[in-house]
Amino acid sequence: MTAREVVVFAAENNCQMVDYKFLDFVGVWQHFSTPMSEFSEETFEEGIGFDGSSIRGWQPIHNSDMLLIPDPTTAKIDPFIKISTLSLICDVIDPITREGYSRDPRFIAKKAEAYLCSTGIADTANFGPEPEFFIFDDVRFNSTSNESFYSLDSVEGAWNTGREEFPNLGYKPRHKEGYFPCAPTDSFVDLRNEMVQVLQSVGMRIEASHHEVATGGQNEIDMRFDSLLHMGDTLQWFKYIVKNVAFRNGKTVTFMPKPLFGDNGSGMHCHQSLWKDGVNLFAGDGYGGLSKMAMYYIGGIMKHAKALCAFTNPSTNSYKRLVPGYEAPVNLAYSNRNRSASLRIPVTSNPKSKRIEYRTPDPSCNGYLAFAAQLMAGLDGIENKIDPGQPLDKDIYGLSPEELKDIPSVAGSLLEALQCLKADHAFLLKGDVFTEDVIEKWIEYKMEAEVDPVRMRPVPLEFQLYYDC
Ligand code: GLN
Ligand code: MG
Ligand code: MG
Ligand code: MG
Repeated sequence: MTAREVVVFAAENNCQMVDYKFLDFVGVWQHFSTPMSEFSEETFEEGIGFDGSSIRGWQPIHNSDMLLIPDPTTAKIDPFIKISTLSLICDVIDPITREGYSRDPRFIAKKAEAYLCSTGIADTANFGPEPEFFIFDDVRFNSTSNESFYSLDSVEGAWNTGREEFPNLGYKPRHKEGYFPCAPTDSFVDLRNEMVQVLQSVGMRIEASHHEVATGGQNEIDMRFDSLLHMGDTLQWFKYIVKNVAFRNGKTVTFMPKPLFGDNGSGMHCHQSLWKDGVNLFAGDGYGGLSKMAMYYIGGIMKHAKALCAFTNPSTNSYKRLVPGYEAPVNLAYSNRNRSASLRIPVTSNPKSKRIEYRTPDPSCNGYLAFAAQLMAGLDGIENKIDPGQPLDKDIYGLSPEELKDIPSVAGSLLEALQCLKADHAFLLKGDVFTEDVIEKWIEYKMEAEVDPVRMRPVPLEFQLYYDC
């Protein structure tokens, strides 16, 4: 839609309010609204001022005036606001220079796309993320909280020894057996269907929906892939809709990667491929039906994986998911079909859908930053012809420590990921996609607001381990 078309669209839908949305640095959608009377075609030129100092990791208070410029191509009707409301995703602009704000994730995503085109390698990077999430209500949450926070037993071990779970929760899926018995064991069919319908109502193409592996409440809804920036926008709509449909049904949704100890966490596997003039450049006749270019892309992801973790797995909780045994890949290896490898090459019947699936990322990430960073790592692989080595077609979880010793792994903690990003980020600076300022601020914010506060707090398990010492 053009600016003029948006004005017509708003009138046709009898919109009374306009809701302006943008993503903060960390990855949470922010918004504010104006009455329709304050909105016109000029709003797309003039923008709307706001205080950038209230956004985590952005401007200091003495330099806080910023401008939002709505993007007319993102116009939709917000499905959750009672009064008919036009919703627009905005770019963040420096009001003095009128240039994009370097810490605006959407600007970074746009620059990544522009950099890709400037290399001549491809004109489009497609991303298909698979965000998994937990739906909780009070009963379920309370029923698992003791176990998740206090138990020393691995649940799998407990299950093997026949330990029973109390209280009896009827058809609640057993640990690691949620994928995917029919109702009533899967009690989320209606809720997921409602989510799917609202997702479709804002123009999203949904491919499938199912319960996930973990005990009652872990779900997945799969969207059709899209180009990087669009997928950044779509992921925000996805989280917004899934959370709000749950909320209006008396439930709550979390995208935190590992809410329950001893059961699968939530990943956000990222399928990706590069295209030029409508041709998928990842299809070829090499291993797994991949092209040489796709191999180098894999090489780039593997080389920079630890630094990438600072964007693809950016929470302290991310590393509670990245442990062996829960389908969350820890080892840096690629393989045809193998789900214990961090890079899987899905089997496809059509060369057009040839792609790689990077399985390490999780949905606590800021989508624009995580997609842009993966693309930059992959491009670095292509530009420098980085060989990913031999594939690993074995079940990595079953390998002995001896066999594992030469296989590199992803970062083990957010601290390690941030240290690796500090040491390895030149590949992100190309084309000014990520700036030194963005990297520094990201590390500073994550250290001060997350790593240190979590590190300094005693956790319940420590009382069990050390109270009596
Ligand atoms: N939940 C797993 C993860 O953390 C993935 C499970 C699956 O999609 N097969 O990545
Ligand atoms: Mg899936
Ligand atoms: Mg899944
Ligand atoms: Mg997957």
